[in-house]
Amino acid sequence: PSVMSEELRKLLPPTSETVMTKPFPIRGERTIADCTTPHVIAMVGLPARGKTFISKKLARYLNWIGIATRVFNLGEYRRHATTAYKSHEFFRADNEEAMAIRNRCANQALHDSCEWLLSGQGSIAVFDATNSTRDRRQLIHDIVVKQHGFRLFFVESICDDPMIIEQNILEVKVSSPDYLNMNTELVVRDFLQRIEHYEERYQPIDEVTEAHLSFMKVYNAGKKVVVYNNEGHVESRIVYYLMNIHITPRTIYLTRHGESEHNLSGLIGGDSNLSARGHQYANALSTFIAQQQIDGLRVWTSWMKRAIQTVADVKAPQERWKALNEIDAGHCEEMTYEQIKERFPEEFKARDVNKFAYRYPRGESYEDLVARLEPVIMELERQGNVLVVSHQAVLRCLFAYFLDKSADELPYLYVPLHTVIKLTPVAYGCKVEHIKLPIDAVDTHRPKPKIPGDVSEPGLDGLSGELVAPDGVGKVLIVGDDVATATNGNGGRVDAQAHQ
Ligand code: ATP
Repeated sequence: PSVMSEELRKLLPPTSETVMTKPFPIRGERTIADCTTPHVIAMVGLPARGKTFISKKLARYLNWIGIATRVFNLGEYRRHATTAYKSHEFFRADNEEAMAIRNRCANQALHDSCEWLLSGQGSIAVFDATNSTRDRRQLIHDIVVKQHGFRLFFVESICDDPMIIEQNILEVKVSSPDYLNMNTELVVRDFLQRIEHYEERYQPIDEVTEAHLSFMKVYNAGKKVVVYNNEGHVESRIVYYLMNIHITPRTIYLTRHGESEHNLSGLIGGDSNLSARGHQYANALSTFIAQQQIDGLRVWTSWMKRAIQTVADVKAPQERWKALNEIDAGHCEEMTYEQIKERFPEEFKARDVNKFAYRYPRGESYEDLVARLEPVIMELERQGNVLVVSHQAVLRCLFAYFLDKSADELPYLYVPLHTVIKLTPVAYGCKVEHIKLPIDAVDTHRPKPKIPGDVSEPGLDGLSGELVAPDGVGKVLIVGDDVATATNGNGGRVDAQAHQ
């Protein structure tokens, strides 16, 4: 029997039985058995404990591995419902008017999460709110599990390290829409008081009184992790991912190998040597990396000659990954696009119709590549500073993970030769810099043609191409926050574009 409040019952549509009519949307062939049940991942924790950070990052990962995921953030519902936020007083437990608004927003966000899952558009809804009392979690359980028959997994972030909390406030709360034009010191003071109001009523998840819940607790940004009643493949993957991420500042450098002999002749695949200009890039890259003075840098390359030759002079420990080898073009290996079009016209056209899912005869698809690269992403999450030297298709997949790009956009991302892509995690996203080293190279990018199978169209495709054209030097793009900006190397703004 449901113990849902009358107030909430009125808000929700009459769906007392499990209403799962639509199949669970999962990309391509990688159907995961227990994914047939939609999941709600509900965050738990005091303010500034990284709940939004975890929610966004988790959603980006799940979408990348092909599980359609969306975050429902309570703060956004609250700001939409009222502009009444003046100070921490709004969050006082005895502020009845504000409490009514907050409850209404929480109910609405949860309702929308369930509706979204019911609509069949997605598989996992992340409910990003404090959910800091036992009653609230029981209510969520009643609606998600009892009413809808979905799976429910709580992720609680617990942090008692004042340094981390203050750092979090400075990093993300000072720029929050709640504190427009407010001085940093006042923001920190107000936010700490907001946390105190929550602390008065906060009940961490309790294994005894809430033994029926499935949950994970993350202590002090991953120092300790507790997992309870964990069930099924999806939850296990979530637990594994969240155990691997960290918040220590670091930088990831991505680059393709230097120009190869096959690049010069327009052949795809193969395992050729660097061209003369490719060797010049290898030199320039080692100088660039030395100039950056990167602490504890590790270098990862594929097993292909052109990648290994590119880092021959880079002074840092090196590891080779088979998973970083270029996409296997099967029967089309070592052919030009024109030759493929001539010999396999139907195949060539099919690739343009759905490039992400298209698998070369006896070879791989981009979708296969994402699956092959998951261990690389997981290890990248665990590491500090890393330089990854790989190939066009592989780097598109890695880049898509960091930039939250869809499967449609991924195979057309612009990853030119002789360019280092520098990724620095900031707030909820990633700062991206394209650093083009001054050595010419052929352009191997083939944009999405208007007509499938057309090889004649030159030029760059869409968004990512535009970001680096025409010179590509020193442009900065911050991705993952609400507004992304591009600036030139001197810090001057050149473009501003919304990027999500
Ligand atoms: P609020 O309840 O006010 O929305 P929140 O809990 O969602 O706060 P975030 O806005 O996500 O907190 O805080 C982001 C900051 O948290 C980032 O600076 C990030 O480095 C940090 N962070 C990420 N994961 C954790 C964690 N597990 N514990 C503590 N801090 C974390």
